[in-house]
Amino acid sequence: MEDLMNKELWFVTGSQHLYGPETLEQVDKDSATIVDGLNGTGKIPAKVVFKPVVKTSDEILDVFIKANSNENCIGVITWMHTFSPAKMWIAGLNAFQKPYMHLHTQFNRDLPWSEIDMDYMNLHQSAHGGREFGFINARMRKNRKVVVGHWKDEKVQDQVAAWCRTVIGWSVSKKLKVARFGDNMRNVAVTEGDKVEAQIKFGWEVHAYGVGDLVEYVEKVTDDEVDELYKEYESLYNVANDCKPGQKYHENVRVQARYEISMKRFLKDGKFGAFTTNFENLTGLDQLPGLACQRLMEAGYGFGAEGDWKQSALLHILKQMSAGLEGGSSFMEDYTYHMNPANEGVLGSHMLEICPSIAAKKPRLEVHPLGIGGKDAPARLVFESKTGDAMNVTLVDMGGRFRLIVNTLDVIEPLAELPKLPVASAFWKTHPNLADGAAAWIYAGGTHHSAFTLALTPEYIETFAELADVEYVVIDKDTKLSEFKKELRWNDLYYHLNRGL
Ligand code: MN
Repeated sequence: MEDLMNKELWFVTGSQHLYGPETLEQVDKDSATIVDGLNGTGKIPAKVVFKPVVKTSDEILDVFIKANSNENCIGVITWMHTFSPAKMWIAGLNAFQKPYMHLHTQFNRDLPWSEIDMDYMNLHQSAHGGREFGFINARMRKNRKVVVGHWKDEKVQDQVAAWCRTVIGWSVSKKLKVARFGDNMRNVAVTEGDKVEAQIKFGWEVHAYGVGDLVEYVEKVTDDEVDELYKEYESLYNVANDCKPGQKYHENVRVQARYEISMKRFLKDGKFGAFTTNFENLTGLDQLPGLACQRLMEAGYGFGAEGDWKQSALLHILKQMSAGLEGGSSFMEDYTYHMNPANEGVLGSHMLEICPSIAAKKPRLEVHPLGIGGKDAPARLVFESKTGDAMNVTLVDMGGRFRLIVNTLDVIEPLAELPKLPVASAFWKTHPNLADGAAAWIYAGGTHHSAFTLALTPEYIETFAELADVEYVVIDKDTKLSEFKKELRWNDLYYHLNRGL
């Protein structure tokens, strides 16, 4: 994981020469105070960096060009302390290639009713200065985040922090490399997609490898390395008796340890942040990697089963966005329904690969035969998910464009024990309810796979979609199916008219 605190958000304050040097000095001081205030919250996972107030078209262009080329700068926060005529911003905004926020705040919170005079008015012009800046952004059809409120207000600080996390996700996305061990599962439609378009829109490099390339790494792992890793498993998990040294399935666990070490090496050597496997492409491997994929997800790698590179990339980005937050994120699949009208829900799971970052309790390490793929019984971690607000996020290729789909969920305790379920799982209530939530997801073409997270909210994905300039739809408590269907139709029209697709 990158050291996020090395990243910078540049704080750029807009003004003009009309006010004279004294006022501009004050603007600089106020701006620096806000920067200190934002850094002092401890919530924003990057350093907010003060930049001297900009007063001319040349100064604006210059700061944006410098922000473009600065390795550590991941985005810009703009603030119109005073009135900054917005034609001056056209060249800079045209040149700028990173995310930016329009923080529509004011230095003082309260009107000084008994003392307000024109000097005070001149120093508190955001109310109209921000509108001038808003116009030029709207006129130029710029995707930007607008946050309104006083800078000391916790809600405003939380929005800045959430935006910062999305911007971190975006900077990760632009450099993300995905390794595919094998190809997509044969005949499956929804895991396919245009990898060239994905690189243009999201920055993802998606590379396929023969499983033999991985087998070469597997063969180089030493027994001592496997011994070391097995000790770690014993310290972290409740290892089933038949998986312990000398027992029937111990070797099956060691095989997964070998996969974990070799896959991690492969991914590190190639600077990959995400990967896929496919149970149909396992030539040279004795088991489908299960425990190995779970452990790599927990270490921050994105994962997609059956060659699903889109959800794998998405999962890595969500994990980076949410670094340090409560919750956890995993590859997920809508597996089986509980359709009892009294308490309906969805049991989410996969053949093996659910990330232990979402585990409610210490996972159990077990080995069971897998009824698919015709390979040896694979080791896996078995647990149930933490509960709470969560969401499924998926990316589908609509042919000509990508669509990001979010469904908010309440993850709850399973309604009864699951003593025979040999895999990790999560049980959730779909918003707005199972019938409308699942129907909306299906109308939108959402995949059975998703990136599931307990750590983030739809706001992050909405902003991310705007940065990538792709379609975004959310299915939540307020979703009305008939309106949602219209939104899909209108979106088709929008993309057809505006993007020629
Ligand atoms: Mn699957």
